[in-house]
Amino acid sequence: MCPIFRALLGVLAVTSVTFFVLGGGLSQVATSVHRAGVATYTGATWFVASVTKRDLARSYESASTTYERVSDTNTEPFAKRKKNVRILIVPGHEPFSGGAEFGGIYEREWTYAIGESLREILSMNPRYEVMLARTDTAWHPALLSYFTDEAADIEAFREAHKEEMDALVRDGSIPPDLHEVHHGTASTDAALHLYGINKWAGEQNIDIALHLHLNDYADRKSTRAGEHAGFSIYVPLGAYSNGEASKDIADAIAARLSAYHATSTLAQEASGVVESRPLIATGAYNTADHASVLIEYGYIYEPQFHAPELRDLVAAEYAYQTYLGLQDFFGDSVSGTYGSVAFPYDWQGAIGKERGVPVYALQAALHHLGFYPPKNVSFTDCPITGVIGPCTKNALSAYQQARSLSVSGVLDGATAEALQNEFGVRL
Ligand SMILES: [Zn+2]
Repeated sequence: MCPIFRALLGVLAVTSVTFFVLGGGLSQVATSVHRAGVATYTGATWFVASVTKRDLARSYESASTTYERVSDTNTEPFAKRKKNVRILIVPGHEPFSGGAEFGGIYEREWTYAIGESLREILSMNPRYEVMLARTDTAWHPALLSYFTDEAADIEAFREAHKEEMDALVRDGSIPPDLHEVHHGTASTDAALHLYGINKWAGEQNIDIALHLHLNDYADRKSTRAGEHAGFSIYVPLGAYSNGEASKDIADAIAARLSAYHATSTLAQEASGVVESRPLIATGAYNTADHASVLIEYGYIYEPQFHAPELRDLVAAEYAYQTYLGLQDFFGDSVSGTYGSVAFPYDWQGAIGKERGVPVYALQAALHHLGFYPPKNVSFTDCPITGVIGPCTKNALSAYQQARSLSVSGVLDGATAEALQNEFGVRL
């Protein structure tokens, strides 16, 4: 994951001398845990589920289909009475700081672009009430005032949950986190904001939080592109209150992303969906009652993030696939979709183009038809980049051969017409 999150793992493991009295809800959870007497790390439940797939499905089914606009400016953005499924989109990192960076491209700008696109798509479904946690310049006013006014309570909330976990570890109910690094004593703003979001989301009855990120890894030389590629989704431990529902959502989104993108080649992310105990965004110390997933769409140095002409398309593509995954999760799948916004395309208009949107569309379409990446080559070696190269030429040749066209590896009129017949055309 990106370096800021590694840093936060250290921050959240702060040992504190302050003990805060637990709230009623938390005590109840503790009681249930002790009664259940669960102790093993894998496959066990430490906490009573705060959200389940069935709860969410029921909310979705019974959601009002009258469109509820969520205020972008009001400090109380949601309607008093909850009638829809509430989704909070959190573009990774602070508006002006944090996150990965490569070649003048900032993760925090990309996560906002994807977030804005995702908000747009989700908002078309009246069953959702959608809030974007920040723009490219500021946190949503509701969160901004919460971070400031409730800073002490947020810290108390974190401490209470940490104490809770520590006590369960001490009495042997749950195992210690061997990966926890104990250093530092001060909380950063970024950590406070993430705990604040968890606390606020609970008070606002948020159902699902989607934390959006681009990936990086710690020991990459900052001036050079790294060796890893692909997406991964981080989820809370299955043993947390929100573990199971979050995992189900992540699996559904991963299935849609993996239709057009490689899963991460980093060993610990190879499964695509990765459990994390100390990640704040997904509920470190069991601080999230809502389902929460953290999506790393790709590595910051991957080519699709470095072509300005692809920016809108790539943001929309990731957002759309995230939306499709959510719809699959809710059992309300979108029909008649190729799973990509890149095509159908005006293929005649793509003739002679070496890069950009037309090439991205061509690669995605060839992928959908099973020709891209070329035979015996992986998605990692031939990602959808929007740039013509050997991958696209080989894939086009295979397509032309399969459709009995003259084989050139180049998009010509006859090939464009064949593609048009496959998909129809969108002008
Ligand atoms: Zn990040």
